[in-house]
Amino acid sequence: MSEEEAEGSIQVEDTSEKENIEPPLKKAKLREDKHIDRLGKLEARLSDILSCTVCLDLPSKSVFQCRNGHLMCASCFTHLLADSRLKNEQPTCPNCRTEINRNICSRNLAVEKTISELPTECSHCSQELPRSSLRNHEEKECLNRPVHCKFKRIGCLWRGPFHKLRDHEEKCAHPGMTGLQLMESLEVVDKRHKDEMELFQNIVTLLSHEKIAINDLQLKPYRSDDYIPQLCYESSRFSALGQQWVVKANVVGNEKTVKRILTYQLVQKGKTNLNVKFLMLQSPFSDLIIKPEVHQQQFTCDVQESGYHDLILSDPLECNKMLEANSIKLRMIIFQIPGSD
Ligand SMILES: [Zn+2]
Ligand SMILES: [Zn+2]
Ligand SMILES: [Zn+2]
Ligand SMILES: [Zn+2]
Repeated sequence: MSEEEAEGSIQVEDTSEKENIEPPLKKAKLREDKHIDRLGKLEARLSDILSCTVCLDLPSKSVFQCRNGHLMCASCFTHLLADSRLKNEQPTCPNCRTEINRNICSRNLAVEKTISELPTECSHCSQELPRSSLRNHEEKECLNRPVHCKFKRIGCLWRGPFHKLRDHEEKCAHPGMTGLQLMESLEVVDKRHKDEMELFQNIVTLLSHEKIAINDLQLKPYRSDDYIPQLCYESSRFSALGQQWVVKANVVGNEKTVKRILTYQLVQKGKTNLNVKFLMLQSPFSDLIIKPEVHQQQFTCDVQESGYHDLILSDPLECNKMLEANSIKLRMIIFQIPGSD
């Protein structure tokens, strides 16, 4: 696979060279532009055809199909099955109403492979490349990928694009510092590490609770009916710990602000006294990496909504990718605090 990628990047360099030796190749260039244009349209048409018929997104993981060939992404398929279980109905294909279940519906490998060949943009450098090689490019090859200074362990907090790394490391002040000077920055590093350890210890302790519910959610966007309509998100109802719930979310920041954050709240659809802790994690159906944070909420007959909590992405720039998709896929774990039912 890495060979293919290497070829891909060489091709890109080739075109720029052709641009430099202009006159004799002008016609060829025009022809090439037309070809690229046509390809662009073909890709758009293919994306439409291969998209999930429920959420209209291009699936990034497994693709399932009903008996009549209607495509569903793994997340929507699981959702449809779970929804019909909640409603105590026979699950059906939303397009043709034939029965669907894990035995009847098959994966469609040809579609999955075709999607992996469709181009997508690197989130760091905007280069177009096949979906199948995106991860490798973003993690190992992209010159704009965010990296840490190699003196991070002695307290340098510099983080920047890979192409500036060497320059920084040559000038980095940390290797020249005295032990005494380093102590201060090491304390910052220690504190971060300690906070992280505490968080994970906390989660491990929660995982030993008796009542835990794991739900894979899909938040769908809609416009609020305010005077100035806001972009809002809501999950469908799900059941956890014997209750019905929904998750609602808003976007902080608008089309003018660069920094955008999704804030969410957990809403109980009943009036039960329930003391819970909850956290959001990456969904098995999404590439969005989330920094876990545990929140606590005491639900009572008067309090059915938790406060709003920011969804912290491991890469804040991913927020736009998340908003661009037709739904936001997340995994939520709810822990019941013992002695609260
Ligand atoms: Zn879908
Ligand atoms: Zn169907
Ligand atoms: Zn890149
Ligand atoms: Zn440094």
